[in-house]
Order: sequence, then C-alpha cells, then structure tokens
Amino acid sequence: MRLTELLNKDEVTISCELFPPKQGAQLENYKNIVKDMAALKPAYMSVTYGATGGTSDYTVKLAEEVRNNNIPALAHLTCASSTREKVASVIEELKAANIENILALRGDIPANADFPLPDQYKHASELIADIKAQGDFCIGGACYPEGHPEAATIFEDLDHLKEKVDAGCEFLTTQMFFDNNILYNFMYKALKKGIDVPIVAGIMPVTNASQIKRITSLSGNMVPPRFLAIVDRFGDNPTAMRQAGIAYATEQIIDLIANGVNHVHIYTMNKPDVAGEILDNLSNIYVR
Ligand code: FAD
Repeated sequence: MRLTELLNKDEVTISCELFPPKQGAQLENYKNIVKDMAALKPAYMSVTYGATGGTSDYTVKLAEEVRNNNIPALAHLTCASSTREKVASVIEELKAANIENILALRGDIPANADFPLPDQYKHASELIADIKAQGDFCIGGACYPEGHPEAATIFEDLDHLKEKVDAGCEFLTTQMFFDNNILYNFMYKALKKGIDVPIVAGIMPVTNASQIKRITSLSGNMVPPRFLAIVDRFGDNPTAMRQAGIAYATEQIIDLIANGVNHVHIYTMNKPDVAGEILDNLSNIYVR
C-alpha cells in the first residue's frame, strides 16, 4: 500500500520505527521484533538505513518482513555514504521486493570525507528526483521543526524543504521534538511556504536518562524545562524514568491529535514493549 493512501485521509495514523541488525546472524531475532511490533497494528512501520547502530545491508530484508506481517512498509534510503550506482542498485532491490514506500534522505556526511564526490548525490532533493525517475514509488522525506543543524536559519531550511517537495516528495516525517509548540510553529511556516504535503510528527519516547543526553548532543534538540525536571528527578531510577518517559510521549501525542495533527510516528527503536504501552494508553483515542 502507498502511504499517501493513509496519510491523505482525515484519520489518525500511528506508525512505528525499526532499525536493522548489524549482522545477518541477528536477522532471525529481528524478525521476532517485527512480529511483536506488527501485533500492535501500527498504521505502517519504517525501517532505517545505516542509522542508530544498524547497517544498510538488511533494510530491504526487514522491510520485506514488515510487509509479510501485513503491515505497510516504509524503507529509508540514504545517499551520503554511497555512490549513485549503489543507490540505484538498492532502488532496484526495493522494486524487486515490492516495497512501494521510500523515505529518501541524504544521511549525515561521513567525518573526514570529501563530500560530495562526483558520483554522489549532494542533497536529498537530487535523490528524490532520481527515485521518481527510476520507479513508481511513494516517496517521503525528512524535515526539522527546529531547523536542520547545518542550516543557517529555519527559513533557509524551509526553502530547501520546498525543493524536496517540488522534486516529488509526497509526505514528510519530522525530526523528534519535545515541545509541541515547536511543531505547530513549524507547520504554520511550512504551509506559508506552500509545503502542503502531509507532515508526520516524530515522537521519541525517552525511557532512560543517557538517551536524552545523546539525542541533544547529536541533534541539538531543545529540551523544555518540564522534561528536564523529569530527567533530573527520575533519571537515576530506571523504572521510574521509563514510566515517566512513556507518559510524556503519550501526553505529547494526545495534545497533537487534539490539535488536529493526525499522523504520529513513534521512534520505537526496536522496543515493542514501549510502543505497546503508549498504544495502550491511547486505546480510546487511536482505535486499531
Ligand atoms: P537534506 O534534505 O539534503 O538537507 C540537509 C541539509 O542541506 C539541510 O541543512 C538543508 O537545508 C541543506 N540543503 C538541502 N538542499 C540544499 C541545497 N540545494 N543547497 C544548499 N543546502 C541545501 N539518517 C540515516 O543515516 N538513516 C536513516 O534511516 C535516517 N532516518 C531519518 C528519518 C527522519 C524522519 C529524520 C528526520 C532523519 C533521519 N536520518 C537518518 C538523519 C538524516 O539523514 C540527517 O539528518 C541528515 O543530516 C540530513 O538528511 P536530509 O535528507 O534531511 O538532507
């Protein structure tokens, strides 16, 4: 199923995210994670590419596994660490596996590398245009409510975001944010720029204190005092921190849905138990 069939309806969707294994030997275990996550009946499941400890090698295989569990699959594809030829071969693999949805990303620029080499894509917009030329895919892209860390201003970032949409991006998924007002301001600015594709709000349940330090150092996310107080108070107590993190993410999602943001993507990081608790908390709000 093309995700735009879901995202263009006036209905709530909640989706989940997986990252692939580092080694083929772990694939069987990961298939069990897919099964557990699929049992929660998310609207779709995305599989990252070379991010958060996974490699790019098993993204297509895991996306196929998602589809085999009767859940629409969204395969991420990055290009900053690959040649155009390698990217083209992954697109062919996705086609052969009948994966219809791709989240097209530049990826982080590898440290100490000359970027871009002549046979590389420079921006996600170029990748999006080529995916569109290579097959009949439903293509999504990333967006950053607080601005991408490389962008001088949020307005410059929005100009480039518009280029992605003009190149063929049919929906956007946001970077995580911990204050919903940041998203509401961003959506207003995006619409003013003429960016009118569905925007899926990315929510990260923070279930341990070290996670928040890692996230903010990597992405520069703003952490509101209300959330910092939770980390200060419960950070040393893993079970309390887990419960508070799930409650915070749940509250964020309820507020988003109440304010008309219909599409939420939970950065579930291969934790079906966390995803399950959040969905249980929403059982009368998001009926699966
Ligand atoms: P781009 O859209 O190319 O933007 C990157 C920067 O370049 C921005 O500052 C933008 O303003 C600027 N820019 C764009 N076009 C131009 C132009 N024409 N001229 C000048 N500047 C320009 N990483 C992974 O490795 N694997 C994943 O699976 C993954 N999944 C992600 C999912 C989501 C929802 C998000 C939000 C991020 C994900 N990332 C992933 C991280 C992502 O790869 C990085 O944030 C990366 O640095 C930027 O990728 P992009 O596709 O947003 O790049």
